[in-house]
Amino acid sequence: LDPEEFRRQAHLVVDFIADYYSNIEQYPVCSQVEPGYLTKTMPKSAPLRPEPIETILQDVNKHIIPGITHWQSPGFFGYFPSSASTGSFLGEMLLTGFNPVGFNWLASPAATELEMVVMEWLLKLLQLPESFSFSSDGGGVIHGSTCESFVCTLVAAREKKLNQFGTNRSDTLGKLVVYCSDQTHFSLQKACQIVGINLSNVRSIKTKMSMNFQLSPDALTMAVESDVRAGLIPLYVCFTVGTTPTTAADPLLILSEIAKRFDMWAHVDAAYAGSACICPEFRHFLDGVEGVNSFSFNLHKWFLTTQQCCCLWVKDRTDLTKALSTNPELLKNKASDTNKVVDYKDWQIALGRRFRAMKIWMVIRSYGVIGLQEHIRKHVKLAKHFEALLVADNKFEVVVPRNFAMVCFRISPFALATVANGCSDEESNRLTQALLESLNGSGLVYMTHAMIEGIYVIRVAIGATLTDEKHVNMLWDMVQGHVSGLLAK
Ligand code: PLP
Repeated sequence: LDPEEFRRQAHLVVDFIADYYSNIEQYPVCSQVEPGYLTKTMPKSAPLRPEPIETILQDVNKHIIPGITHWQSPGFFGYFPSSASTGSFLGEMLLTGFNPVGFNWLASPAATELEMVVMEWLLKLLQLPESFSFSSDGGGVIHGSTCESFVCTLVAAREKKLNQFGTNRSDTLGKLVVYCSDQTHFSLQKACQIVGINLSNVRSIKTKMSMNFQLSPDALTMAVESDVRAGLIPLYVCFTVGTTPTTAADPLLILSEIAKRFDMWAHVDAAYAGSACICPEFRHFLDGVEGVNSFSFNLHKWFLTTQQCCCLWVKDRTDLTKALSTNPELLKNKASDTNKVVDYKDWQIALGRRFRAMKIWMVIRSYGVIGLQEHIRKHVKLAKHFEALLVADNKFEVVVPRNFAMVCFRISPFALATVANGCSDEESNRLTQALLESLNGSGLVYMTHAMIEGIYVIRVAIGATLTDEKHVNMLWDMVQGHVSGLLAK
C-alpha cells in the first residue's frame, strides 16, 4: 500500500461516488437487468496483471451500476430504508483504514471502548433502562444484523434454561418453545433453526387487523398455558416495535409481565422503528422495555448509518458471555484475565469483528442528537403528507394506521364507479398489484407490498436520506396518473 498512490486513487473513488449521488435520479430505481447478466459479460478468470483504477471504475459504470437497485435513490420507498450519510461514509473509510480485528480488548482497546461509549450514548438517547447499561449488570454490543442478535439471545436463553433443568440436555432441548406473532420478522424462524429449536415448537401467534396487528396478551397467555399443560417449556418470546408488514407495535408493558410470569426470555426487535424512539414523541412505543431481557435495533435502517449495524443490549451480560465465551491459549492476555475488560468475541458468533463503532461515533458526532431527530421527523412529516393525500381521495384506502414513516394503502373496493357496492377484496388486490407493478415499471420509484388478512397493500416506506417533499409529490402524481389509467381499462 503506497500512501501517495492510495491518496490519488481514493480521490478518484470519492469523486466517482459524489458523481453517483449527483446523478442518482437518472438511474432506474430498481435494477432492470436479467438474471446472469453479469456472469455472461465478466471474464471467466481473474486478471493476471494489475489494472489501473481508471479502467476498473469504467467497468463499475458499465457493468455494475446497471445491476444495482438504487436504495439511496430519493425514489426508493421499498422494504425499509438502508440509510447513508456523509458521516457514516467517512466513518466507514476510517474504520477500513485502521482495519483492526477487535475480538478482545487488547486486540484494539479503542475499538472495544468506543463501542462501549456509543452503546451507552444510544442507551441514553433511547432512554433505555439503567439495567441495560454497563454501569449495572447489562451492556450493549454491535452485531451485523438482527438475525445475529436473535441467534445470540436465543443461545443465551437456551443455555440458561438447559442449566436450570440440568440432566438430559437433548430431552429438554426438544421441549423448549419460542413465541412470536405472525408479524414477527421471518429471521427469528431461521435463528430458531440455527440454535436447534424444534420448528414445530415455534408458535407464531395470529394477530388481527382489528387489533392493529399487535401481539395479543390473551392469545400469548393461552398459547403458553397450553404448552405448559402439555409438558413443554416456554423459552423465549419476541416482541416487535415496528413490524415489517405494517409497522405494528406490540404492547411491551403487559406482554413483558407475561414473559416474567412464565420465566421466558423476552426480546424486543425494534429493527426499523427503534431509530424513531430517539424522538420523545415516539418513545412511548418502548414503554415497558424495562421488563424485557434484551432489545435490539438496526442503525443501518433509519439512523443515517450504512450497513451493517444492529445494536443489541442485554440486561445481564453474563447470560451472553456464559453461552458464547471461548478462552483459547492463543488469545490469553493479562487484561482479559483481570475480568475488567470487555472481550466482544464473547458477545457474538464470529471471532473477528469490524470497528463499526467508528462509523456510529462519526454519525452521532456529525449530526448531533438534534440532526438525527430532524432526519426522523422529516420522513415522518413526509409520510403524514402522503397519507393525507390518500385519505382525501376516495379511490384509495389507508389500510392500517400509520405509526412511523410507512404508509400501507390499496385501491379502494369503491374506486370503480361501475361497481356500486364496491368490488371484492380479490379484485381490489388485483388492481392494487397492477398499480404497484406499473409504478415500479416506470423506473422512477420503487415500492414493495405486503399481504395482510388477505388484503394486498402497497407499502410506501419513506426514509431514503435524499427523499424530499418534491419526491413524495412526484410519487403522488404518478399514483394518480397510473390509477386513472388502470381504472379506465
Ligand atoms: N426485524 C424487522 C422488524 C425487520 O424489518 C427486519 C428487516 O427488515 C429484520 C428484523 C431483519 O433484520 P436483519 O437483516 O438485520 O437481520
